[in-house]
Amino acid sequence: MEYRTTRFSLNSSSTKKTNLNSSNFSSLSINSTNSSYIPYYDTYPENTTISLELFQSLAIERLRILKTIEQVLARLNTTLSVAPMNKKDEIEKLIRKELKDKLNQLKFIIFPSFTGALSIDLQNDIISHYILRLAFCPTEEERRWFITNELELFRYRFQVLTKTEQLNYLNDSSSNIKQFYELVSDEEKKHYKESLMSSIIIKGLTNSSTIAKSFDSTTYFRVRFQHVPDLVRKRSCFLAHGYAYVSDNDIISFVLQHFRMNISYQMTCSSKKYEFIQEMDTRIELILKMLRKKRIHGTHTTMHTFNENEQTETITFDMLNSLSKRSFPLCMRYLHEQMIQQHHLKHLGRLQYRLFLKGIGLSLGECMKFFRHEFVTNGSMNPTQFEREHVYNIRHAYGQEGKHTSYTPYSCMKIIQDPPPSINEYHGCPYRHWDIQTLKQRLINNYDINEETTNEIIDKTKQHHYQIACQIFFEYQHKVKNYGIGINHPNQYFNESRKLLTGTTTNQNTMNNSMTQNTSQI
Ligand code: SF4
Repeated sequence: MEYRTTRFSLNSSSTKKTNLNSSNFSSLSINSTNSSYIPYYDTYPENTTISLELFQSLAIERLRILKTIEQVLARLNTTLSVAPMNKKDEIEKLIRKELKDKLNQLKFIIFPSFTGALSIDLQNDIISHYILRLAFCPTEEERRWFITNELELFRYRFQVLTKTEQLNYLNDSSSNIKQFYELVSDEEKKHYKESLMSSIIIKGLTNSSTIAKSFDSTTYFRVRFQHVPDLVRKRSCFLAHGYAYVSDNDIISFVLQHFRMNISYQMTCSSKKYEFIQEMDTRIELILKMLRKKRIHGTHTTMHTFNENEQTETITFDMLNSLSKRSFPLCMRYLHEQMIQQHHLKHLGRLQYRLFLKGIGLSLGECMKFFRHEFVTNGSMNPTQFEREHVYNIRHAYGQEGKHTSYTPYSCMKIIQDPPPSINEYHGCPYRHWDIQTLKQRLINNYDINEETTNEIIDKTKQHHYQIACQIFFEYQHKVKNYGIGINHPNQYFNESRKLLTGTTTNQNTMNNSMTQNTSQI
C-alpha cells in the first residue's frame, strides 16, 4: 500500500490549493477555504528557515505534549487492564477527558489556523512534528514511542470532529485515504442487515428497538480487513470476502491505521536523513540528543537555552547510599540495598540499575568505581574477573563499546512488563513483582511507611495500579499531597524528588515547606 498525501480542511469541499507561506513553506500546499486544519504530516517542510532557538523551543513544547499523552495513556492502559468489561467505555471517556484538560493547560491548539498571516500555529505544529520525528527516528524503541503518542494526538483531534466533519475528512478530494474505503450502499446494508446488527449486539446493546434505531442511523464503510486489525481482533466488525464492514462509530480505527502506516513509512525515510544531518550540523545533532534525553528525564523544567553540558547535580558514587533513601523509587532503592548487602547483582538487576544510575547523571568513571567497590573491594570477586566480566558491559551501557549506542534507562512500563525476578534476583517493580504480604511487611518494617499509607498502597497494588501505588509512596516520602506527576519512569521519580528536595518545585501542595528546605542538601 502506498501512502502519499492526505490533506483536510474542516467543512472543506473546495479543491483550491493555497500556499501556506511562499517563502518558508514552498512545498506545503493545502486544500483550503476554511480556517481549521488537522495536519497529516505527509509534506516535508523543505526550504523552511527558522532559528536554532525556535527549533529547540518548538521541539520542547511538542515533547511536553507527547509526554503528557504518554502519561495519560499509561494510566489508561493500567486502569483498563483491570476494569470490568461493562465499565471500560466509561473509564476510557473519563481518562480521555483528563487528557483534554491537560492539553488545554498546555495551551495545545487542536485545529491550527491557516489563513494568511495567522498560519504561524500550523507552521509551528508541523515543524515541531518533523523535528521530533527526526530526533526519535534512530532506534526502534524511540520510533515506537513517537508513533504511539503522535497517533494518540491525531486520534484526539479526529474525535473532536462531528460525524459530518469526519465524513468530510474521508471524502476530501485530495485525500489519499479515499481510495481505501467504499461507502456501503443501502442495498448492501439491507443485504447484510443481520450480520451488521449482530456486531452492534456484541458491543453491548441488547434492547431490540435500540439496536434497530442504531442500525438505521449508522453509516457503514467497506475496507480491506487488514486496514482495521484492532476491530478484527476484537471481533467488532462484520467480515465478508476479505472486507470489513466498519460503522461510522469505529471508522477512527481505519483512519488511525492509515495514519500509522504513513508515519511509520516516513520515519524510515527520516532515519536515512539522520546520518546526513549528523554530519551537516553538530548543533542540530546536539539538540536532537537533548530531546532524546528529555524524553527519559522529563521536560518539567521551564524552557531554557540548550546546553549540552547541562547538569543539575554532580553525583558521585559515595552519594548513592544517601540518595537511595531520599530520592530513589522503591525498585531502585531495593536494587541498591541488595547491591550493598550482597556485593553483587545478577544480570537483569545490573542492567536495570546501571541504566538508572547513568540516567541520574552518574558518570562512567563513577559507575565503574561503584561496581568495582562493591564487587571487588567489599565483595569476593578478584580484580581480574571484574575486568574480564564487567568492565566491558559497564562501558557498553554508556555507549563506549560495541555499536556505541547510548542505551536509555528502563521505563516503568518496561520494568513492569519484563520477566519477573526469580530466586536471588532483585530487579523488577516491587508493586508488580512482590507478593502482597512481602510488600506490606517491607513497607512497614523496612521503609517506615505508616499503616494507613501502606493500606492505600496495597489497595492500589491489588487493583494493579502499580504506578499509582508508586506515586503514593513518593508523596508519603516527600510529604506532599496530590502532587499529580503520574509516575511513569524511575528517573522521572528521581528528578521530581530532587526538584522537591532542592526546593525548586512550584507545587502548592507541599505540606511542610520548611522541612523540604531543610532537607534540600544530601
Ligand atoms: Fe519503579 Fe516504576 Fe515500579 Fe515505581 S512504578 S517502583 S518507578 S518500576
